[in-house]
Amino acid sequence: MIVEDCLDAHPGFFLINAARALVAVALLGTALPSAAPLTVRYDEQRFTTCEEAAQYAREHDTVGRYQYRIGARLENGFAAATGASGYRAAARVRFSLEPEFSVLELPQWSWPGQSAAQRSELAQFVESVRLHEMGHRLLAERALRGRDAQIGVYGKDAESAKRRLRERFAALLSDLTKEIAEKENLYDRVTDHGIHQSEAEAYGFPAGPDIVFSCR
Ligand SMILES: [Zn+2]
Repeated sequence: MIVEDCLDAHPGFFLINAARALVAVALLGTALPSAAPLTVRYDEQRFTTCEEAAQYAREHDTVGRYQYRIGARLENGFAAATGASGYRAAARVRFSLEPEFSVLELPQWSWPGQSAAQRSELAQFVESVRLHEMGHRLLAERALRGRDAQIGVYGKDAESAKRRLRERFAALLSDLTKEIAEKENLYDRVTDHGIHQSEAEAYGFPAGPDIVFSCR
């Protein structure tokens, strides 16, 4: 085998354009602790009364959100002549959650004259939201585990072999993204976006308390 084209010399091939390779999946999240970094943002909202906040909670099934991007990279890529059959291109595909795009959004609600009981109720509510959102993160992490792979394709020349490798890479990423989205959609259907989070465990999803908010 003759090494025809060391792909090290072609960073554009090696590390496929981040904009194409990164897939943004906006989602909402229980919570096994995760070591990966996570940015937490608070969505501040002022209500006039606790009842107004409770009504808002009833009318919105998604008050939190977990956003992330799947990073996908080709590593150790190469294309080489293989005698009569043309060229072979191969690389290692690596998937990860991009830490800098991993953002958890939580509600930060206030109203005048908040009682201690209301504060406590609100804190439990926010914690339930956080656990639901972290469930989304856990599903994505689980789906990415063990998915790194070696891929290889053939082509009539080096360029076509590389092109087919990129296509294979894009298809893998697309399939993985679709698979995660389906799991998360099911997670939201089963739990009704966390309102019935206690249903999650029966389906093998991350468990947690139901998201409820009421005024006492
Ligand atoms: Zn959700």
